[in-house]
Amino acid sequence: IRVRCCMAAGCLSSGAVAVKESLEKTTAEAGLADKVEICSVGCMGLCCQGPLVQVDSPEVQNLTPLLYEKVTLENASAIVAELNGDEAKIQQGNLNQPFFTKQLPIVLENSGKVDPERIESYIAADGYQALYHVLRDKTPTEIVDAITRSGLRGRGGGGYPTGVKWATVAKARGERKFVICNADEGDPGAFMDRSVLESDPHRVLEGMAIAAYAVGASQGYIYIRAEYPIAINRLQIAIRQAQRLGLLGSNIFDSPFDFKIDIRIGAGAYVCGEETALMASIEGKRGTPRPRPPYPAESGLWGFPTLINNVETYANVPWIIRKGADVFASIGTEKSKGTKVFALAGKIQNTGIIEVPMGTTLRQIVEEMGGGVPDGGIAKAVQTGGPSGGCIPASAFDSPVDYESLSQLGSIMGSGGMIVMDETTNMVDVAKFFMEFCMDESCGKCIPCRVGTVQLYQLLTKICEGKASFADLELLEELCDMVKHTSLCGLGQSAPNPVFSTLRYFRDEYLTLIK
Ligand code: SF4
Repeated sequence: IRVRCCMAAGCLSSGAVAVKESLEKTTAEAGLADKVEICSVGCMGLCCQGPLVQVDSPEVQNLTPLLYEKVTLENASAIVAELNGDEAKIQQGNLNQPFFTKQLPIVLENSGKVDPERIESYIAADGYQALYHVLRDKTPTEIVDAITRSGLRGRGGGGYPTGVKWATVAKARGERKFVICNADEGDPGAFMDRSVLESDPHRVLEGMAIAAYAVGASQGYIYIRAEYPIAINRLQIAIRQAQRLGLLGSNIFDSPFDFKIDIRIGAGAYVCGEETALMASIEGKRGTPRPRPPYPAESGLWGFPTLINNVETYANVPWIIRKGADVFASIGTEKSKGTKVFALAGKIQNTGIIEVPMGTTLRQIVEEMGGGVPDGGIAKAVQTGGPSGGCIPASAFDSPVDYESLSQLGSIMGSGGMIVMDETTNMVDVAKFFMEFCMDESCGKCIPCRVGTVQLYQLLTKICEGKASFADLELLEELCDMVKHTSLCGLGQSAPNPVFSTLRYFRDEYLTLIK
């Protein structure tokens, strides 16, 4: 019998360590230590119900795991008693609810199943098989072609075709090349990358190694924010383990391929998620963006060709290689292939992490999987894409979630944060919140963003306080336009998006506040 205890940040913060210790102690006391294995795994997704425990036992549930939610020290003992044949006393969670059944795990296929601190656990789940196959049987060009055929697009927000990016770096000429994993997840309400790294760090290392082989790089960096200590620790452990087994380093799988990965810890500046700022930070300089071109694919880290993808993009790669590019391409919509991981947050019953096929509707995600607004409340809007995204009203919840549809609605896919708002939410306040965030995070390098976000924040404050006139509203719109079109990097260019989308769908809320 295998008892899996979630050891990701959500469950750890609600007492998972003590629960696991109690399960271990009680199991030993009940003389079940040789029959029951208590193990640590990563995120099971339903973070709001932590600490979560799942039991795999063919004897007690016909191969369907049992789920225990909000496990306390007392019911940890009762769970062991049940495993020992006692009558079931604890109410179990429901693994047959849409939150779980509507998911299609590719990136999260091992989350909640493997022990993120044991490479053997990842290997037992077919880990590093894709890398082995690639190094033994495939040329770099074949790998770039496979990624292109899969239709994978960058999951960091932009949605740029991954295969095209890899092909550009592969073709670029340079004495050295680099591969970077952008783990500088900074959108408010987004925690997908953190969850993947805490749950299945080897998957990201394997994806990076395959990418490095495909583009001809021998050094990789993971740029991760200091606010993610558990993810950093698990990555450090994973890198050491992979090095020890010869899966990172020289002559991997006895091939001529050498690849090393180092971690660079960022201090948490939001702008360092922008690729040129991120590279400046790795080089030891102040993390500020620079104009593009040249693009990193041609002139990146220290002027050498550099491939930058985010955590989720790399995490898709081993699956694509193992299962086939065509299988991946058969999932999703015409232009958005595969799945997307989302972090559900805000006024929603089931806060947590989900992975759904592209094309799933917002209604399915918010109402069916997310369970809607708690206490019978009504969802008013969902914010996607963080400060660069927008607020989509409930009337558009039947739209499919893919890159094009979200952009038509005035938002973006972004990295995958989804914040649900209910009828009590004032949308002007929401716009003000995100503008304040951008104002605080502006690096100050260019005037439109440095000064513009302050002016926009002041105008929004004036409106919220009921002191603004129609002229102020006009000025707000004009200024948004100016900041969008004249800022140097994505932060400034997209800072007005929450204002645009709330003006588009909730203009009446602005008007009621205008004198
Ligand atoms: Fe810095 Fe903002 Fe200009 Fe980007 S747009 S370079 S964050 S000041």
